[in-house]
Amino acid sequence: FDIRENNITREEKDFENALRPLRFDDFNGQPKVVENLGVFVEAAKYRHEPLDHTLLYGPPGLGKTTLSNIIANELGVGFKITSGPVLDKPGDLAGLLTSLEPNDVLFIDEIHRLQPVVEEYLYSAMEDYRIDIMIDKGPSARSIQLDLNPFTLIGATTRSGMLTAPLRARFGINMHLEYYDPATLQRIIRRSARLMRVPIDDDAAVEIARRSRGTPRIANGLLRRVRDFAQVKGNGTITKDIADIALSALNIDSYGLDEIDNKILLTIIDKFKGGPVGVSTIATAIGEDAGTVEDVYEPYLIMEGFVKRTPRGRMVTPLAYEHLGRNPYSGNVM
Ligand code: ADP
Repeated sequence: FDIRENNITREEKDFENALRPLRFDDFNGQPKVVENLGVFVEAAKYRHEPLDHTLLYGPPGLGKTTLSNIIANELGVGFKITSGPVLDKPGDLAGLLTSLEPNDVLFIDEIHRLQPVVEEYLYSAMEDYRIDIMIDKGPSARSIQLDLNPFTLIGATTRSGMLTAPLRARFGINMHLEYYDPATLQRIIRRSARLMRVPIDDDAAVEIARRSRGTPRIANGLLRRVRDFAQVKGNGTITKDIADIALSALNIDSYGLDEIDNKILLTIIDKFKGGPVGVSTIATAIGEDAGTVEDVYEPYLIMEGFVKRTPRGRMVTPLAYEHLGRNPYSGNVM
């Protein structure tokens, strides 16, 4: 079970789309973000203007795509979706931009991964709703200016610090999504179970929520796997017992940490005496990309109190030793 977005299959995407809330009212959690966005959307509608360009940032699976879709729905405008790595050249972007109807929403996922030439091309589109396009080839090639319909760009990124300053400056609205608390995740799980038409006991929802790493995408993914166990090994209802069996079969521990989380903690403890050690060193030791460790794994480990960030690098806490059954006195402890 992999939490990284790029490893999601087509079938999993369809499953995700089926569970996606379409209105602010159906979106659980992130109260501040939802409240603010609700006001900005209402105001834009009232003025018949596009919503300001919006940047959503936070770890994968917290609802950035979902919220963008909701914004377009609530505005009553069209929604187009693409992602940074997919846009190879300015021409790819030009095609999308010229296809937008007035006040439509264009969503660019992983916007920090835009090619620099594509990013620069986006600047005038965002600022003046205008782009230059090349017509003709060879000696008669020339560029002409093209006016676009006003539109809203919503960019999603795992960390706003990864955006260039000129791009960041062009977003009027900047929102940070946080990990979800267990009570909110329970509501999301119960809603998803209802949509999937699978009965679930309350204590089973509590257990799945507790082990979902604060992330709705993981909660929904676990629910789907647990449903398989309920239908094959049980009577179809997701009970606490079934959830426990399924979650341990999936190697999800009692804190919801997955194999990579645990590998990170063990590496810091066993190879670096508990730290301090730099993120890139940890990443190399476990064969992961440093950006992924920093954006996807570390924030949760820090929030849950397993890892601390210090000026000299990352250190594990006594909780990590306890969780992994290691003796803290064999290394450095803070
Ligand atoms: P991101 O774009 O941040 O990676 P998504 O918007 O794709 O995350 O959300 C991943 C999955 O989690 C989707 O299936 C979505 O329906 C579900 N989800 C995310 N946030 C919520 C929420 N607040 N309430 C209900 N479901 C949610």
